[in-house]
Amino acid sequence: MNKEALTNIDDLVRHWLTTLDDIIPQLIEDMVTTTKRNRFDLVTNVDKSIQQNFEDFLHEHFPEHQLFAEEKSNEEVNAYQGHVWVMDPIDGTTNLVKQQEDYCIMLGYFIDGEPTLSYIYDYPHRKLYKAIKGQGAYINNQPLSQPEDLKLEDAIISFNTLVMNDATIHELNSASFGYRFIGSCGLDSTRVFLGQFGAHVNTNPKPWDIAAQFLFAKELGLKMTTLDNTDLDFAKAGPFIISNKACHDEVLKILNANTGYQK
Ligand code: NAP
Ligand code: CA
Ligand code: CA
Repeated sequence: MNKEALTNIDDLVRHWLTTLDDIIPQLIEDMVTTTKRNRFDLVTNVDKSIQQNFEDFLHEHFPEHQLFAEEKSNEEVNAYQGHVWVMDPIDGTTNLVKQQEDYCIMLGYFIDGEPTLSYIYDYPHRKLYKAIKGQGAYINNQPLSQPEDLKLEDAIISFNTLVMNDATIHELNSASFGYRFIGSCGLDSTRVFLGQFGAHVNTNPKPWDIAAQFLFAKELGLKMTTLDNTDLDFAKAGPFIISNKACHDEVLKILNANTGYQK
């Protein structure tokens, strides 16, 4: 795709994201929460409406593009062919329901399986993270630079303690500078983009939890791999780490010692 066509898509998507500023407050005011597989697995009208709204946007502007998203069946989508948008309409739904803070909207655009455009919109703080293939990554249109090398002993790391074995939690804590977890795979990842966190680990993400991060990792010189240090498949997802390159191997070594994590 030429630069002009890509800029046109970027302009339209960024405009679509600004329209959310007008509709999210009302959606939150009318919030209805339902559960999916168990009482902790939440979905709200906010998630559903934002996804529907984006689906309508695609139909209007790019009818040939496919949507691969959390709150729909994706059986008919071939994620590796043509123009595909992978979407998590709200990442951090628990945070939205319980705190009305620390959630985001995530979009990853792939052409024939190639990450081409990515957005992570931290709506509560009005911070838009964007990556464009070959052109770098941005926060609110200001270029981001590659974070400095962070050794594990100097790094804050992020993971869900519910899925780590106790010995592994202790080992990670003593090998790193500290532990923080926001509870949104997208926003925990943005801290790695900014060099605030050394690494974020999720042992069981779905495609929409990690699709957007591929391009940021590429443009910012970060490592994004499976927990076996192999290439990740965006359409299959599975255990993942996004990490500053200076602490990636050490985190994986600890995670893989003594079968340290569960899915
Ligand atoms: P949470 O606040 O519900 O979610 C934290 C982050 O993890 C969000 O990005 C969320 O995406 C995502 N997530 C939600 N369910 C997940 C799952 N089953 N596996 C992996 N990621 C998931 O987290 P929580 O309240 O601490 O935990 C809720 C449940 O999710 C628990 O059963 C927990 O074990 C599991 N979880 C597992 C991991 C992992 O690394 N394996 C990480 C987080 C949560 P959405 O907001 O879009 O759902
Ligand atoms: Ca998610
Ligand atoms: Ca979600």
